[in-house]
Amino acid sequence: MVRARADLHTHSFASDGSDSPTELVRKANKMNLGGIALTDHDTLSGIKEFMDVEVSDEMIRIPGVEISCEYENREVHILGYFVPLDSRPLNDKLEFLRKARYDRLPQMVQKLVDLGLEVTIDELYEDIKGVASPGRPHVAQLLMKKGIVTTTLEAFEKYLAFDRPAYVKKERMKALDAVRLLRSIGAFPVLAHPFTVKAPDLYSFIQALVKEGLLGVEVEYDYSFMGMNYSSNEVKEMSLDWHLLHTGGSDYHGTIHVTELGSTTVPIEVIEEMRMKVTT
Ligand SMILES: [Zn+2]
Ligand SMILES: [Zn+2]
Repeated sequence: MVRARADLHTHSFASDGSDSPTELVRKANKMNLGGIALTDHDTLSGIKEFMDVEVSDEMIRIPGVEISCEYENREVHILGYFVPLDSRPLNDKLEFLRKARYDRLPQMVQKLVDLGLEVTIDELYEDIKGVASPGRPHVAQLLMKKGIVTTTLEAFEKYLAFDRPAYVKKERMKALDAVRLLRSIGAFPVLAHPFTVKAPDLYSFIQALVKEGLLGVEVEYDYSFMGMNYSSNEVKEMSLDWHLLHTGGSDYHGTIHVTELGSTTVPIEVIEEMRMKVTT
């Protein structure tokens, strides 16, 4: 059987997924995926295990990352593929972003307590033991566990989303800087799920990223778990102006979000095109 498809956007429990990198690779292998990228938020700590786990069949694995960024005060995610694990400038930046993630946890919990909810920071710390890059989904999980909400989406909509009462701003990297950094270390930068960027002019935003060296855009993406419905055609057409590579993936988080591994994929050839760009 030809392994023709690749899922280029997944998370492990190094950030806010629920699977270990080993489980992720084994599942992908069982599903007959031809390629998979691990793209944890602001950390490379799952990558070594991800690359090393042995499976019986051939499956291309790509070391990746999803960097928390902003553009004109809006949240933006930049994916990096074929990231070198030992890059000092990248690791320094990621460490700064992870510290910002840790720093905001007690602030979020305090806001929830002020709202009258019975949660403690110790319960949260207990839940995130061993997690390199914790985030709001972990807080949402705790609220679910305590019966305060029934779904993580409800936790976001009631408390944790931007403009909701327990939202705390997090330090992020400038999107343009992230693209420039990824290119400078030989990685392949991609704009993740472009329609979640609330930029009034998506075209100009992508154009600005291209100037810094953006090479791809995540065209294939299922927005429905965020309650949004977009077709990929608009951004596909837009990106043709700059010859950007069309990537895609499931944004699989295990039990934390509802998307399934391999539910959104791209042809396996996309990986080869990426590799050619970063090695030439
Ligand atoms: Zn994202
Ligand atoms: Zn993601």
